[in-house]
Amino acid sequence: MDIQNCGYDMLKNKFSISDKTINMMERVEKRLAPQFERVEKISEINQLKVLSAFQNNKISYAHFGETTGYGYDDLGRDALDDVYAEIFGAEDAIVRHNIISGTQAIAACLYAVLRPGDILLSVAGSPYDTMEEVIGIRGEEGIGSLKDFGVSYMQVDLKDGKLDFEAIENTVKLNTVKAVLIQRSRGYAWRDSLSVDDIEEVIKTIKGIDKNVICIVDNCYGEFVELREPTEVGADLVVGSLIKNPGGSLALSGGYIAGKKEYVKLVGYRLTAPGLGKHVGASLGMNRNLYQGIFMSPHIVAESLKVSILCAGMFEELGFAVCPSSDAKRSDIIQSIRLENKENLISFCQAIQKGSPIDSFVSPEPWDMPGYENKVIMAAGAFVQGASIELSADAPICEPYIAYLQGGVIYNSAKIGVLKAVDAIEKRR
Ligand SMILES: *Cc1c(COP(=O)(O)O)cnc(C)c1O
Repeated sequence: MDIQNCGYDMLKNKFSISDKTINMMERVEKRLAPQFERVEKISEINQLKVLSAFQNNKISYAHFGETTGYGYDDLGRDALDDVYAEIFGAEDAIVRHNIISGTQAIAACLYAVLRPGDILLSVAGSPYDTMEEVIGIRGEEGIGSLKDFGVSYMQVDLKDGKLDFEAIENTVKLNTVKAVLIQRSRGYAWRDSLSVDDIEEVIKTIKGIDKNVICIVDNCYGEFVELREPTEVGADLVVGSLIKNPGGSLALSGGYIAGKKEYVKLVGYRLTAPGLGKHVGASLGMNRNLYQGIFMSPHIVAESLKVSILCAGMFEELGFAVCPSSDAKRSDIIQSIRLENKENLISFCQAIQKGSPIDSFVSPEPWDMPGYENKVIMAAGAFVQGASIELSADAPICEPYIAYLQGGVIYNSAKIGVLKAVDAIEKRR
């Protein structure tokens, strides 16, 4: 049997992908071979980094055992912290299945290091949506935001989509800034993510003015996309979610914090209680998934990046604006596609859903999600609820109708979503 034809027939007969789209895919995959190769190379190096951390910390079967109650002497939990610290080139780390999301992990860092009267500065424009209520620039008063506790907030906006070094320098010179929040990923904005080089430069700039400023990087969606992590270029704390990159799609929930020992210690006190810190907390049998997840992560991130690159390449051929472009160097796994009208946007998300292993038969619709200004449509057919390392797409229903695609876990599977989306958009022309 001819393997090439067999794959073609499967796409056509089992998934109803049009000949035109299959041909376009083959063309785009050929054109983007150098990009795929680059992704594989980075993944290879990160995989070796991870393997070496496992070996150096002598991870063994015993680390997968469960603890209950207070979780004293949880070998697996403490060694996992060490593994993360080594991978991230950090002095210490906290990795917990019961950090419920990235937002909680970032909030824990901010509350850990900021005190009444302090100033927090965001240097890459407005922070991720959910951070606004934590900081207190949106939402109710009196719910315990940083603002309620007397922490003030300042922000330097991006200039032409890039860090505005002059404004950052001036702000740090003229104010006693206690901590800086640096968001690596584009999040849900039409801008480039910050590269680790960018992050290195901004940290150098800030520390050159005042070495005591605590630099916190929101690393969500960025882990293992490049060769270095922000902790390796001077960040005091990096934070992320385990249902994104570092959970490798196997973590069932959780978050991590890595960085300087003195700050990680404060985060531990914040997450448990002052005096208790990070050496308590039952792992409840979750350790195995967290270990296996970080072990798989460099590969899973690479697969997801390839899905994004394919999507960028195909929508470029269709004539849509995409960010980043198919040949760009990437620093996060998100792909934005500007779909120009509401119907395209909805078709795109519904097609991504059709490519998922779970709930492929349901069709997402725009809905009024609490906390959002516009209706939002979300495609997510995932094993873990809301896991955006798995194939997913979401979009606010507003001009200029941008869809944000991320994840994929397995290129050969997730690309069905992209092909379905291309077909759907072609059909609407
Ligand atoms: C996902 C994400 C967060 C945190 O969101 P959660 O849904 O709480 O995990 C914060 N910042 C960025 C850039 C993110 O992508």
